Amino acid sequence: MNRKKILVTGGAGFIGSHLCERLLNEGNEVICLDNYFTGSKENIIHLTSNPYFEIIRHDVVHPFHVDVDEIYNLACPASPVHYQYNPIKTIKTSVMGAINMLGLAKRVRAKILQASTSEVYGDPNVHPQPESYWGNVNPIGIRSCYDEGKRCAETLFTDYHRQNNVKIKIVRIFNTYGPRMNPNDGRVVSNFIVQALKGEDITIYGDGTQTRSFQYVDDLVEAMIRMMATDDSFTGPVNTGNPGEFTMLELAQQVIELTNSKSKLIFMPLPSDDPKQRRPDITLAKEKLNWEPKIQLNEGLIKTIEYFDNILKK
Ligand code: NAD
Ligand code: UDP
Repeated sequence: MNRKKILVTGGAGFIGSHLCERLLNEGNEVICLDNYFTGSKENIIHLTSNPYFEIIRHDVVHPFHVDVDEIYNLACPASPVHYQYNPIKTIKTSVMGAINMLGLAKRVRAKILQASTSEVYGDPNVHPQPESYWGNVNPIGIRSCYDEGKRCAETLFTDYHRQNNVKIKIVRIFNTYGPRMNPNDGRVVSNFIVQALKGEDITIYGDGTQTRSFQYVDDLVEAMIRMMATDDSFTGPVNTGNPGEFTMLELAQQVIELTNSKSKLIFMPLPSDDPKQRRPDITLAKEKLNWEPKIQLNEGLIKTIEYFDNILKK
């Protein structure tokens, strides 16, 4: 059988672990590279009995060499709490990580996919956001280490493609949630679910009218795999997200109902530069990947609540 060798950077993280699992299930050989900053061995321990799965502790800011056919570049903390912990390291991870992985892709002629983000649109004044929108990003704010790092990585990917013919793919991922998010991750879905299950106050930042569009992780993994399989001439960027748009108040309400929680809402200051609205235009993904999300928020939340309920009982 034609077994591909695939490198997944950030493979021990939330999305990376689901991607490794799916790629192994499809019969590929998978190398998971991670420095465990926000990821954990717990996320991938169940894959270690597969002889085609390999784990390497490595930091993508340093060069790395391995002979592979495809690279999925996910290494980077994604939660504001974690990417703001050491902002200089965050931007190094995005920029130097991209340079190192693109250099590797060039040398071994691998196809490489970048996990970019809806954050490249910043606090968008075009709504919903199509790929043609250049964004509204503060270059010197507290989110800039992440947003600008990811924007620079997109530039590097595109220039390696134009200058060196590296086969690149860029996906712009909108807020994604699901099992294996870290309970202390700080992102809104995991925060609300953990708070609701523990009967603690639910922390709404600002007045809760800001919106996000939440994509279940299985839908994202499907889109990433379809993107990798497209013709070399299609590089993206392509949005992947669920167009269902909710305020944080609506999300809190759904979580409270689904968990039967007695938690109350408390209002806390809105962090600076927090985007007011976000919703993907997925016309391009529908056309090029023949993809659209299948799991709506209610169903995805039920699966995610079940996961957190189990780990909180441990
Ligand atoms: P995560 O924090 O769970 O995963 C990131 C992984 O990268 C972790 O395992 C972490 O240990 C690893 N990592 C961080 N810095 C590293 C470094 N210097 N060297 C090697 N490994 C490193 O977050 P996630 O939600 O799984 O996000 C995965 C990717 O998807 C990230 O690149 C993120 O920017 C992107 N993304 C995620 C979302 C989302 O909503 N989850 C949205 C847009 C983009
Ligand atoms: N948020 C919130 N309470 C929390 C965590 C986040 O109200 O406990 C808000 C946050 O201010 C933002 C939205 O939820 O408006 C999504 O935050 P998250 O950190 O999940 O993702 P991002 O802001 O990067 O889209």
